[in-house]
Amino acid sequence: MPASTIENVVIIGSGPAAWTAAIYAARANLKPLVFEGEPVGTELPGGQLMLTTDIENFPGFPEPLSGPELMERIKAQAVHHGTRVVSELVKQVDFAQRPFTITPSYSEPVRAHTVIIATGAAAKWIGLDSEIRLAQIGGGVSACAVCDGAMPFYRNKRLAVVGGGDTAMEEAMYLTKFASEVVIVHRRDSFRASKVMANRVLSHPKVRVLWNSRVTEVLGGDFITGLQIEDTVTGEASEIEVGGLFVAIGHTPNTKFLGGQIDVTEHGYIKVSSWRTATNVEGVFAAGDVIDDYYRQAITSAGTGCMAALEAERWLAHHGIGETPVLEAGESAIAAPAAGA
Ligand code: NAP
Repeated sequence: MPASTIENVVIIGSGPAAWTAAIYAARANLKPLVFEGEPVGTELPGGQLMLTTDIENFPGFPEPLSGPELMERIKAQAVHHGTRVVSELVKQVDFAQRPFTITPSYSEPVRAHTVIIATGAAAKWIGLDSEIRLAQIGGGVSACAVCDGAMPFYRNKRLAVVGGGDTAMEEAMYLTKFASEVVIVHRRDSFRASKVMANRVLSHPKVRVLWNSRVTEVLGGDFITGLQIEDTVTGEASEIEVGGLFVAIGHTPNTKFLGGQIDVTEHGYIKVSSWRTATNVEGVFAAGDVIDDYYRQAITSAGTGCMAALEAERWLAHHGIGETPVLEAGESAIAAPAAGA
């Protein structure tokens, strides 16, 4: 892109929120530019859906489809309507002056009138040195069963999953295809996962649960051999032999590259105004899991992506920039906040 170009809308991210925002912005003739990121460890362009097997709850798909397939289709739709894509991470942004500056990993900085942040959230780790070391060297510790579980390394072994949420249930179910046994290590005596998913896992003959248990050490040199476990009620220590560990204990929103320029909640999610996607910086919007610690669904993420694109479009129209959107009779370019918002 020539340095003099000022983009109408730059979208940062590559999950359902980002591509839905791109579809709406592209169809509004705003020629959006998407920074979709690049693979880093277990983080893949496409976001968390890249780690999901069967999606049964995205409207319009009566037969289950895989997360990567859904992402590919939403991205193809965005590209079909004229979205341009750069496969790089954004390492820095400058929102202090307009137009905003977005600096990617390798290419020249890009300037933009509006920005939509849809960078999602990254998997959390337990925080043990042994866990991180083995994850880094590919020694049988992973935060993504769907990425790694099918590898020959894990076949016919006892595999452990840590966590008690829907992700842990999903990973455990996936691993039953390959493991001799799946042991779920959970720190409490009940799962927080939805009943239907928990029941499916609990009734699976290959699954066993270590309730009230936490991992205190991952054992092994170049490859994992076992786990040290502590009973969270009695404090009693024990060991279990495993050939793989899958950590499924939640996610952290990806906001570091913003350098504190955007207000976030106490849990690090971007703050947006009620029922809107506007952030504290005018012209910067946010959508998807990076703003959502409550619903965290592909469909809600896509919904907020749509909202962010409409708000960016209306913001541009209000400021006389870019293509003029067609407004309904009586509709103002920037919607007034809802009563009580
Ligand atoms: P989550 O619901 O936050 O669950 C995290 C689990 O990890 C909890 O059971 C928690 O224990 C445990 N945990 C957290 N920190 C831990 C630590 N340091 N050591 C040990 N255990 C720890 O996260 P999630 O399962 O990733 O799900 C996130 C959201 O996505 C949820 O809303 C979920 O419904 C949704 N989701 C939906 C689907 C689906 O519908 N197909 C699939 C995946 C996720 P406690 O229970 O004791 O807090």
